[in-house]
Amino acid sequence: MKVTVLGKYGPFPSAGGNCSGYLLEGDSTKILIDCGNGTFSQLQKYINYWEIDAIILSHLHMDHISDCFIVHYAFESAMALGKRQTPLYIYTLTEPYDTYSLLGHKDVVRTKPIDPYDNIKIGNFNFSFYPTVHSKLCCAIKAKYNNKVLVYSADTEYFAGLVDFVRGCDLFICESNFISQDLSLGSSNHMASFQAGQLAREGQVKRLKLTHLHPEKPEDIVLSEAKAEFKDAELVSEGEVIEI
Ligand SMILES: [Zn+2]
Repeated sequence: MKVTVLGKYGPFPSAGGNCSGYLLEGDSTKILIDCGNGTFSQLQKYINYWEIDAIILSHLHMDHISDCFIVHYAFESAMALGKRQTPLYIYTLTEPYDTYSLLGHKDVVRTKPIDPYDNIKIGNFNFSFYPTVHSKLCCAIKAKYNNKVLVYSADTEYFAGLVDFVRGCDLFICESNFISQDLSLGSSNHMASFQAGQLAREGQVKRLKLTHLHPEKPEDIVLSEAKAEFKDAELVSEGEVIEI
């Protein structure tokens, strides 16, 4: 399984940065996990966009979905030019419904509703989901391929229920939108990086990568606080390709 980090920021990007998006590849299967702003441009550095098998959205906050709306135009063009014959499917939660209802486009981009405990198969990948603690309904995503397991936390607070979901995975890509000081000040809906480290340690994951970084939080503090809990924690970088 190959994971390419297309965007690492949330809830808005730094200058020249991008929001959440991860390209998963295994043999001929190509799946985009989240489609935040900037990620569709980044995607085209690595593959022909019309070759994506599907998009899976963790939740319907704009920093995870906003490029879906220009994907409409791209796939309309790809169909018209004969580069693509079949619709692109977006697997997504249906809440909030007003946002969900905007994700499909004509007969070129269609939606497939998922629920927070679903198991689905796309190409060579098996996916399962787990509801997180966030301000909107949101799912952590587990991808299995060739006996390798990736877990992506999506957006969430720390909660003990995630430990079993991440347990023993080969790669855990975990949000770290906060530093410890934010929690002291009462911030909610996201994790501080030390909690990502704590989850990784408790779940005995093989590798931890920190993502969904806030552009105004110092990355050295994000990393050092995570390392205090899980010494091999690493920050993702945009354009990074991770083989597992
Ligand atoms: Zn987010």
